[in-house]
Amino acid sequence: MFTKVLYPTDFSDSAGAALAYVKKLHEAGATQVVLLHVYDSRMIDLRWEIEAEYTDKGMMGAKDAVVKKLLDASYERLKEMDDQLSDAGFETELIAVEGIPYQKITKTAADKGVSLIVMGSHGEHGVMERVIGSTTERVLRETSVPVLVVRPAKKGS
Ligand code: ATP
Ligand code: MN
Repeated sequence: MFTKVLYPTDFSDSAGAALAYVKKLHEAGATQVVLLHVYDSRMIDLRWEIEAEYTDKGMMGAKDAVVKKLLDASYERLKEMDDQLSDAGFETELIAVEGIPYQKITKTAADKGVSLIVMGSHGEHGVMERVIGSTTERVLRETSVPVLVVRPAKKGS
């Protein structure tokens, strides 16, 4: 039923808790996993504005090169997870892109024709008092694909 899964990750512990469920889905018939990391373009723009204030304006032209490096680094981190999934018998696809996370997650789910999205309830910003983080909330609002939302284990349990 859920043969092709999208696993979006911000590399947080909470997203890691969701990865454990992706692996378990192999027993339930899942065979393909799309791993997706979105480098938040709002953060890149902000960083760039700040840096531009302190450094030579000539650096502005280097933005594309910096973004490429950030995405290459993200891709390498996805590859580390990819090894675990390949060993578990999954066919995988790795995607590292720049954009607004919930938009890229929703669009990738549609473009890749996945049957399930598995993601963390929280992420790197981790305000646990909130029921879910804003990325997961926006994905739930916008996608027509079923979403498995995984809460991280409570500390001490
Ligand atoms: P917020 O970002 O709203 O302050 P948060 O960081 O705790 O709160 P979310 O951003 O909603 O929570 O993260 C929930 C899940 O969404 C993560 O576990 C991960 O699966 C996914 N996610 C979040 N950000 C990204 C991203 N940049 N790329 C891919 N997946 C992401
Ligand atoms: Mn977040």
